[in-house]
Amino acid sequence: MKAEFDICIIGAGMAGATIAAYLAPKGIRIALIDQCFKEKKRIVGELLQPGAVASLKEMQLGHLLEGFDGQAVEGYALLHGDQKTTIPYPLPHKGMGLHNGLFLQNIRASALQNNTVTQVHGKALQLLENDRHEIIGVNYREEHTSEIKSIYAPLTITSDGFFSNFRESLSNNEKSVTSYFIGVILKDCDMPFPKHGHVFLSGPTPFICYPISSTEVRLLVDYPGDQLPRKALLQKHLDSNVTPFIPASMLKSYQQAMDVGGFKVMPNHYMAAKPIIRKGAVMLGDALNMRHPLTGGGLTAVFSDIQILSKHLLAMPDFSNIDLIHTKIEAYYRDRQHANANLNILANALYGVMSNNLLKAAVFNYLRCGGANAQESISILAGLNRNNYALIKQFFCLAFYGAYDLVRESITNVPKAIKILIDALIIIRPLAKNELSVGTVVSGYFKK
Ligand SMILES: Cc1cc2nc3c(=O)[nH]c(=O)nc-3n(C[C@H](O)[C@H](O)[C@H](O)COP(=O)(O)OP(=O)(O)OC[C@H]3O[C@@H](n4cnc5c(N)ncnc54)[C@H](O)[C@@H]3O)c2cc1C
Repeated sequence: MKAEFDICIIGAGMAGATIAAYLAPKGIRIALIDQCFKEKKRIVGELLQPGAVASLKEMQLGHLLEGFDGQAVEGYALLHGDQKTTIPYPLPHKGMGLHNGLFLQNIRASALQNNTVTQVHGKALQLLENDRHEIIGVNYREEHTSEIKSIYAPLTITSDGFFSNFRESLSNNEKSVTSYFIGVILKDCDMPFPKHGHVFLSGPTPFICYPISSTEVRLLVDYPGDQLPRKALLQKHLDSNVTPFIPASMLKSYQQAMDVGGFKVMPNHYMAAKPIIRKGAVMLGDALNMRHPLTGGGLTAVFSDIQILSKHLLAMPDFSNIDLIHTKIEAYYRDRQHANANLNILANALYGVMSNNLLKAAVFNYLRCGGANAQESISILAGLNRNNYALIKQFFCLAFYGAYDLVRESITNVPKAIKILIDALIIIRPLAKNELSVGTVVSGYFKK
């Protein structure tokens, strides 16, 4: 079958639209399929860490961050009781807070302006295979006619987000819900530290906020557990575990938002990448890999994956050699595992730390000391430092610092100090095993 396209991309979300915007100007023929091209109002992907901004700029896509009132973010503020501290991002790097829906429409418009991109309105239904079990395209239901149609391409990218329909045939992933985020918009809100992401540690579970426009701040409140909370429970959680800890300067806009209500709630997943490599298809974005959004690492991982996959694809003369595409997909899965391990481990480790009273106090005191340790920690969070050793070192330094602090306070704290170290180990061990172990990539259809 002679394919009309080089790549069929399922899902024009953050991952699919961005890789289309990057590859299309290079002459690659793309079919970009999505069930909805309208602007979405979502609470996801609103804080870009400096690593994500840097990746976009390296792909010459930095201009996509312009024109919709996005706000520069210069570092993090931590608030614990009546104590506060800030940690700047390493200069000259900055992050950005924005409306994800507006940003995505910018990316899509940039992709669709290329005559090498064909926009397909429809819901992808099923991957198409030949008799050698190679994937050769996808079936979809066209939006306007409801007809079932097919797209053929030597490479299909499945980037259909966290409820992906195609994971089953392309991975061995196990998805779990760690907690939920309740999203609230605060209008005309005075954050204690303008141009900073804020992490509030005073309540029993963490909540965070950051600017998403010149007049709006996004507040994301964690709701622990793997069951979608009922409305009454959400309100109770906000009333008892958040409202008492909102700083005075933010209280007016917070209370206004509470009066308006209508909060969005999203599940926070953890899913290590366990791809099964099959000829003709590759996974990108949340379809492949997810981590807790507390650290805002999702888009750093997505854009980094796009850079890695594109580098391998662009090294081919064209898309005519299926075996060569296959070796490039293998190389992508191998390289991306190392590149994203820190983001994935940190996101869920920090969530574990912030849900543990002893470790939470330890992380605050450790980072408040500033200096080289705080700088190295923030560069890992920013997605600028991908060194796995640096992450593990910082994690255990903070645990030992917390243990030492407790014992220094009183020798009777020795059991608590031991508990801190054990808890730290319990948090980091499964994550490191999942993310750092070699051989998670399985090659070949029959090894599933
Ligand atoms: C609560 C929350 C907050 C977050 N906050 C941040 C943050 O601040 N910073 C950050 O970097 N990351 C954040 N993330 C993570 C980040 O949003 C995701 O990693 C990112 O959006 C993933 O992009 P994607 O393209 O894989 O999925 P999506 O952006 O969800 O795109 C998937 C696309 O596929 C389409 N689609 C799905 N199924 C089909 C089908 N069958 N046929 C056709 N089209 C289909 C959908 O319509 C959609 O357009 C957050 C995540 C959550 C849950």
